[in-house]
Amino acid sequence: MSTKAKMILAQNVDLSNCDREQIQYAGAILPHGVLLSIREQDFVILQASVNTATMLGPAAEQLLGQSLAVVLNDSELRTIREQLDSGVLDTPRRAFRTLIRELQFDVFIHRVDGVIITEFEQHTGNHQDSASLYSSVHAALTDLQATETVQSFLDLAVDRVRHYTGFDRVLAYKFMEDDTGWVRSESLDPAAGFVSYKGLRYPASDIPQPARRLFAKTWLRHQPDIGYTPVPLAPQANPLTGGPLDLSCALLRSVSVMYSGYLKNMGTHSSLVMNLLRDGKLWGLLACHNHRGPLHVPYEVRVACEFMAHMVSYLMAAKERSEESAYAVGLKTFEAKFASSFSGDPKLERTLPASLNLLGFVRAGGAARTGNSHVIKQGRTPSSEQILALAQWLSAHSPNDIFTTNCLSSHLPEALTYAPIASGLLAIRLSKTDHQYLLWFRPEQTQTVHWAGDPAKPVDLSDDGERLMPRTSFAIWKQTVQFTSQPWLDLERAAAADLRSSLMEILIREGERLYDLYADLERSRNELDAFAYVASHDLKEPLRGISNYAKMLNADYADRLDQEGRDRLETLIRLSRRMDNLLDSLLQYSRIGRIADTYGEVDMNAVAKDAIDSLTAQFVNKVDIRITSSLPTVIGTESRLLEVLTNLISNAAKYNDKAVKWVEIGVEPETSDKFCELYVRDNGIGILPEHNEQIFDIFRRLHGRDEFGGGAGAGLTIVKKIVEVHGGRIWVESVMNEQTTFRFTLRRAGGK
Ligand code: ADP
Repeated sequence: MSTKAKMILAQNVDLSNCDREQIQYAGAILPHGVLLSIREQDFVILQASVNTATMLGPAAEQLLGQSLAVVLNDSELRTIREQLDSGVLDTPRRAFRTLIRELQFDVFIHRVDGVIITEFEQHTGNHQDSASLYSSVHAALTDLQATETVQSFLDLAVDRVRHYTGFDRVLAYKFMEDDTGWVRSESLDPAAGFVSYKGLRYPASDIPQPARRLFAKTWLRHQPDIGYTPVPLAPQANPLTGGPLDLSCALLRSVSVMYSGYLKNMGTHSSLVMNLLRDGKLWGLLACHNHRGPLHVPYEVRVACEFMAHMVSYLMAAKERSEESAYAVGLKTFEAKFASSFSGDPKLERTLPASLNLLGFVRAGGAARTGNSHVIKQGRTPSSEQILALAQWLSAHSPNDIFTTNCLSSHLPEALTYAPIASGLLAIRLSKTDHQYLLWFRPEQTQTVHWAGDPAKPVDLSDDGERLMPRTSFAIWKQTVQFTSQPWLDLERAAAADLRSSLMEILIREGERLYDLYADLERSRNELDAFAYVASHDLKEPLRGISNYAKMLNADYADRLDQEGRDRLETLIRLSRRMDNLLDSLLQYSRIGRIADTYGEVDMNAVAKDAIDSLTAQFVNKVDIRITSSLPTVIGTESRLLEVLTNLISNAAKYNDKAVKWVEIGVEPETSDKFCELYVRDNGIGILPEHNEQIFDIFRRLHGRDEFGGGAGAGLTIVKKIVEVHGGRIWVESVMNEQTTFRFTLRRAGGK
């Protein structure tokens, strides 16, 4: 037989192979009883534990090949037969209590490997009577049902179990997702002065896989005296199969030497362990230890404890589920609150009020919101710069709307620097382009977990240095799962996705609302333009009549009027000319955007030259007009852009009282790949900051009618409208009596 295939049994187990130990084939039993394996059809004894002489009378070798009738009477044999006929019996059932040579035994039977395992457990008399035990268990269940949290539930359960059994320490132990164990609750004999294990975490290696598998098979395992000497079976092999007898379910199965060693090192003399299951899976254990000495828990009490373990499992699953659903409801409530707290403004900084407590959502140490190079932080978080860098990294590397990790540094190495605060991250992406995220941070577990023993070093050498033993150190020791946080639950990820979609829905709705508003505005602006156009157009005709009649009057009747009459007539002519100018401006203004201009690529160098050429006649030799840098090619309508530059340059030249006047036309170095920023600067009279907006109002002039060459006051209004129709914006910067710069943006040709 190759070493690989060799069976790992109690005789050859060590720490290198204990994960493969076939603990069901212990080949020996605990010494507080006797085991006989018998053939089903005739009850002939096939195997016996070698302690039969002291317990039952005959030695094992005398019993082999005999009928069970040498030990039990006819009526007892009949009872066994009836029970075998009535069910599968793959786990031990107590058949009866019997008296053999002054000793009381509880007799258990079950089927395995084609034989019947008969176990005689010696009964010790001092226990509560069944009736009082039943009523106290009943009372305990009522109290358990009334507890509010899983924690208070477990605290009460361990307390009651300690009370029934008399153990000096009872632990409720939960298996975590990573197979590590966590002491969630503990009841200690207050008189004993023990160190508490509550809150400790145990590495997964503490309970080897074979033990976990067997746990799932039997509800309760009891070892009255850990310092026992195992009693071997004779013969070792099951004669019917030729292999070792499967003791998986046997009450008296000898435990792994590794396990006994482990318990001994904890200073335990006796143990009773019960399963806690949730949805058929091992959730954890109720573990009872006795440090003062061996303790044999009688059958009746064990039945009560097992019943408690069933009820605890059942109720605990319900409690956990209700805590989870309360958490889920909390997450939903947050979502609803979140949605209703919207101010109805799609600009995110305003949409999510800073007062919104993000920490009210998932369990986290800190939270943040990012967007537009802006961070709002709550609780314990990395610095704003680190958060911004993280948001940028998310935009570049995570294609998903929801991103979660419980080890951020494994994705983003620089996150190591803030691992204590944020090893766990849950991110909801709101917008990728400007890195808008909602972020929740979870601290590193090392900050919160107390380890019992060193998980990186699962064995210690014993004093003689020869045999490896499970660890002996139980001092609180912090290590672990470095740089990881508590994992995120599916429930939390789903809630984050829901939160995001409700947020998106609101943003889209708000966007649509604003779009409708914008469309309304556009419509009324068009109507106004149409009105202005029609009005100015229609008014021009009667005005022309008035003007013509005034001129005729002046020509034909001037000599019949006195000087005052002639002056008034002149004023009438001047006013109608001015009104004509105003109507022209209004017509020009209302045409912009109404008439669908053709757009194309326009070289602003050429436009600037044309503008200067058309103006030099007016300002010849009086103003130095120069283009300071090569101007870009933009998207627009050439004639309109010519209007813009002509207006701005002529204003720049007009509103200037300096002896040496100049005007500069240029472009700012690249500010964005979509837009370019052009400017027209002069060394003129300047504009007061309070007039920065007003100058763009129609017919608004800051000066007397005839000062600075006069004007209708519509030039800048027209310029602004043209720039805006082109998708840009215009504004002014000025220093009084020194200089004025008009800046405007236009879409770059070839821009994205
Ligand atoms: P107008 O030039 O016909 O009066 P505009 O709409 O072009 O009308 O200008 C509005 C007002 O803004 C002007 O009356 C003037 O007071 C002021 N303004 C415009 N350009 C300049 C400038 N370059 N420097 C100083 N003031 C200016």
